Amino acid sequence: MNVIEEHESEVRSYCRSWPTTFDRAVGSVMWNTDGERYIDFFAGAGALNYGHNDPDLKKALMDYLAGDGVVHSLDMFTKAKADFLRTFDEVVLTPRGLDYKVQFPGPTGTNAVEAALKLARKVKGREQIVSFTNAFHGMTLGSLAVTGNSMKRGGAGIPLAHTTPMPFCNYMEEGSGLTYFESLLADSGSGLDLPAAVIVETVQGEGGINVASYEWLRRLSELCRDNDILLIIDDIQMGCGRTGPFFSFEPAGITPDIVTLSKSISGYGFPMALTLLRPELDVWEPGEHNGTFRGHNPAFITGAAGLRKYWSDDVLTTEVEAKTKLIEGAMLSIVSTTPGTDTRGRGFAQGLVFEDPDKASAVVKACFERHLLLETSGPESEVVKAMPALTITEAELNEGLDILAASVAEVMGTGADVDVPTDEAVTS
Ligand code: PLP
Repeated sequence: MNVIEEHESEVRSYCRSWPTTFDRAVGSVMWNTDGERYIDFFAGAGALNYGHNDPDLKKALMDYLAGDGVVHSLDMFTKAKADFLRTFDEVVLTPRGLDYKVQFPGPTGTNAVEAALKLARKVKGREQIVSFTNAFHGMTLGSLAVTGNSMKRGGAGIPLAHTTPMPFCNYMEEGSGLTYFESLLADSGSGLDLPAAVIVETVQGEGGINVASYEWLRRLSELCRDNDILLIIDDIQMGCGRTGPFFSFEPAGITPDIVTLSKSISGYGFPMALTLLRPELDVWEPGEHNGTFRGHNPAFITGAAGLRKYWSDDVLTTEVEAKTKLIEGAMLSIVSTTPGTDTRGRGFAQGLVFEDPDKASAVVKACFERHLLLETSGPESEVVKAMPALTITEAELNEGLDILAASVAEVMGTGADVDVPTDEAVTS
């Protein structure tokens, strides 16, 4: 038993799937304390879209720290915050014709969701929030109440109230879930109280890489507008380019009332979260939603540097679109030779679905043995989830995909193996 197993709570989880001690990381490669190299298809569960220790972001951070830049400041005015907000406006919002006020709700994704739900309830003066089957929005009580997973909900220890789940896209026969929701809203005898807001992910990352079609998102947006319901898009995992564009909802042509962002918004894996709100929804009283760690200056520095480096043009989005074809091709090739599997996803969030959930876990374990890191998702952990950094090189991507194919072949007994990569195989 190592010191972490001895002292850290039983609640720890990722280290159980990957029982090695990591030490260094650059780009899409991590090394353990023995200097062994691992390809990272996990990317901090979406917090490392630009990979580990991006050199330009690191330099901006080191310069800031070396100059004794303010690190902690609650929500005081700081130069770093001003630069982040200016950059976010100039690089992200204005070019997309979006007008949002920015709230720094606390450092993690669930803080952004809690703020969004509170604000929606305050604006509309209603309690109900509609969420979707297999949604995941975080671990605090408000976010858990709009999360589907029964194991996670069970951890609350109290009733999770004032929310109603509706069928996500393709949960039922195509389109019928929204028709059901629409009927309930139209029927004064349905028992559904008019919700303040609907909260939805465009692709459910934790829920099993379930993809909402753009048509479905448009219909949902119209339904919200026609019924005076606020639309909250939770872009915590699928935003910051995970599916290609900066915001995952852009291709649907919709404008949510509230957007939550976190994970990769700091660009460097620092805790940081944003709740974006249409200006007319900004009815907060000063300090009404508070917190000690709202806007961490080092995260503003790396966040702004990341936006300038990766979002001042469309190079990253174009590269993601091109490399998505590689991932999709590899997934389809695995599925075509492996009965009992299927694939789905969008951009750099791709899933390999197993009829037998035990096989998905076995594949993740076999991948780890070959030095590839990825995790499972879905209600039964039946989906192997490939989420590489958007900046991964083609060589690293192919290396990881080969390992995935070989691991599936071993677990399902369908094909040949590949060797564990050596340090020389690909440089970071
Ligand atoms: N919303 C979505 C869509 C997420 O994927 C997650 C985390 O995976 C969260 C919210 C919660 O974020 P955090 O774990 O930072 O609280």
